[in-house]
This record gives sequence, structure tokens and C-alpha cells, in this order.
Amino acid sequence: MTDSKNTTAETNIVQAGIGIDPAHASVAPPIYLSSTYVWPNPTDKGAYDYGRTKNPNRDILAGALAELDGGAGAVVTSSGMAAIDLVLNLISADDLVIAPHDCYGGTHRLLTHRAKQGRIRVAFVDQTDAKALEAAMANKPALVMIETPSNPLMRVVDVAAICTAAKSAGAISVVDNTFLSPLRLKPLELGADIALQSTTKYINGHSDIIGGCVVAKSEDHVEQLTWWANAAGVTASAFDCHQTLRGLRTLALRLDAAESNARSIAKFLQGQPQVNAIHYPGLETDPGFALTQSQQSGPGAMVSFEIKGGLDAATAFCRSLEIFKLAASLGGVESLICLPETMTHAGMAESARREAGISESLLRLSVGIESESDLLADLSESFAAIS
Ligand code: PLP
Repeated sequence: MTDSKNTTAETNIVQAGIGIDPAHASVAPPIYLSSTYVWPNPTDKGAYDYGRTKNPNRDILAGALAELDGGAGAVVTSSGMAAIDLVLNLISADDLVIAPHDCYGGTHRLLTHRAKQGRIRVAFVDQTDAKALEAAMANKPALVMIETPSNPLMRVVDVAAICTAAKSAGAISVVDNTFLSPLRLKPLELGADIALQSTTKYINGHSDIIGGCVVAKSEDHVEQLTWWANAAGVTASAFDCHQTLRGLRTLALRLDAAESNARSIAKFLQGQPQVNAIHYPGLETDPGFALTQSQQSGPGAMVSFEIKGGLDAATAFCRSLEIFKLAASLGGVESLICLPETMTHAGMAESARREAGISESLLRLSVGIESESDLLADLSESFAAIS
């Protein structure tokens, strides 16, 4: 791997694993699909023994992701949810987890049901509300989850401040950085103990694998997480790691292009009479703008907005789009739209959705890298079609 002391993150992610093949000097790393490995002798298992435990493709990807986040190491998991569940192994039964009240619906569901099983206790808190956060920290959480910008309302929270408060309360701080990636937000530099992501999204960027990763600041956490990932069997497959590394190489270019499109789309939406509210922290009028400027290197490419006319208008709008596909994911090169009410956040109780501010006419865009004019025309034609 490239020496990160002399080269930029953009160069390091392109170079990860390039030209390291000892067998045939291939430039791109080969895929090691073997589930098991020959032992040199019965008392020496060599570098690799069994694919669930360790795999060369997973190791290259883990090394690149750990370096990108500035961590002591990384564990690459079979999904983003597996990454989130993995970190829960760092705390004990009955410990308290604090999570954002408007976190990803799957995270909300997992934490709620782990709590119902009696594995943890959970409190969902509006992390933009300093008083509510202070009150929650007084209950001595063991783990504080942060997700910024939040999904789907794009609320930005002060990562450094929450990590400091978590530390004072004796809690491990964990940032779900799926929406931005380490090229936009560096959670470990802001004081977090752990940065995790669904690599299904921007890291891979082509909507053709499901994966996750956990990067920890301390060797001790890396060791514990590696142990649990092997014990529970949540490590990612060799093929998915190979694909993800391939996607990672173009992350910088993809993010720049998607973010530039997202800025134009957010401005376009500001001028739309059929739009009630826009949530994009790259807009100066957004409540998260100042924090985005100070703690990140860009607002990312996710935009959400409220359309006038309730669920019927939201549904009609989605159906009339052609380039934006109606699908529940994000971070790919292609543009997607989703209706959190019935899609990504359907796993949350309706009351929890309302409490989090998710209405039935909220639409979420994952802006891709297609031409800006085509994306604007697609949106414009759909507004015209439903007016
Ligand atoms: N975290 C966030 C913020 C997400 O948006 C998602 C999925 O959409 C996940 C975690 C879960 O990731 P995966 O679908 O890879 O399990």
C-alpha cells in the first residue's frame, strides 16, 4: 500500500492493493475465492487458514478503509447492518445505547428489537436538542450512536461535541458515516472511537454489492471487533471485497460529481412552488449549513424535500420520473428517489416516524453522476406532470 505520509487519500484509495500480486505480478489484485488454505504444518497455520476468519481481498479492503479513516484497523462485514450489530458486542447486557431519533430505519429496528430481547437498553434522542442530549448522557450510556446528516431529514449534528459528551459519560462513540464517507467527514479525527459505514453505498458506489465496515481508533477495539466478526461469521465475501475495492478507487471522482449535481438540484427545488421544504445542508438557508462548513469538507449528495399534496402527490411524482429510479438505497452512480414513509423507514412505528419529523410527503433523493441538465429536466417534467 502507498505510504499515507507522502500521498493524499485520493491517491491511496486508487493505489490500494495495486501491484502486490506475488504469484504473477498482476496489477489489479486477484480474487482469492478459496474457503480454506493449506497449512505449512499442523502447528503453523500460515497467514491464512479459513476464509471466514481472514481473506486476502478482505484484508486489502480493510487496510484501505482503515487508512482512509485514520483508524488502527478495520473489520469488513457482510452488510452495514452487520457492522452496526457488530459494535453492540463491545457493550454488556443491559447497557444503555443512545441513538438519534431520526436514524436509518433499519438501525432503529435493530436497536429496538435488541432492546426487546433484553440485550441492550436504548434511548432514541433528538441529538440536535442540546438539553435532550444532556439529559440522555446523564443516564450514563455505554455507547452513543451518531448519524450525520441524518436519514432522511439531513439534520447535521456536532460530531466533536457529542463525542466529547460521550467520553465524559464513559461511553464509546460510534459514527455511522454512510451518507458522507471519510472523504467528506472524518469521525475519528473529530473524537469518535469508531466510524462505521454501509459500504453498499458510496464506498462501493455501483449498487451491486451489500457490505459494511467498522473502523476503530484503538487496537483494543479492532481486536475485539475482529474476534466477534469471526465468531459470529459476519465477515464479507472475497468477491464483494474485490468489487468494493474496485468501487473505492473512484470514490473521490464520484462524490465530487454527485455533490455538484446535488447542489444544483437543491437550488432548483428552492424555486419550485410545489415544494414545501428542502433539506440539504449545502444550502446557506439550511440549519445544518454552518456545521457542515466547519466539520466537513462537503455536504454530500443526499437531498430530501416535502412535496405539496401529501402521499398521493409524492407517489405520483415518483411514478412520473424516468431517470431517477424508485429504489431504497443511495450512494450509487445512478440517481434514485425514495419515499421513506413506505420504503426505507417503513420498519419504524408510525408514531416514531412522526416524532422524528418524517411525513408521508417527504421524498429523498440520492443524486447520482448523470448529466446535471438531464437530472434537472427529469425533475422539472415530473413537477409539471403532477401540477
Ligand atoms: N446506515 C445507514 C445510514 C443506511 O442508510 C443504511 C442502509 O440504507 C445502513 C446503515 C444499512 O446498510 P446495509 O443496507 O448495507 O445493511
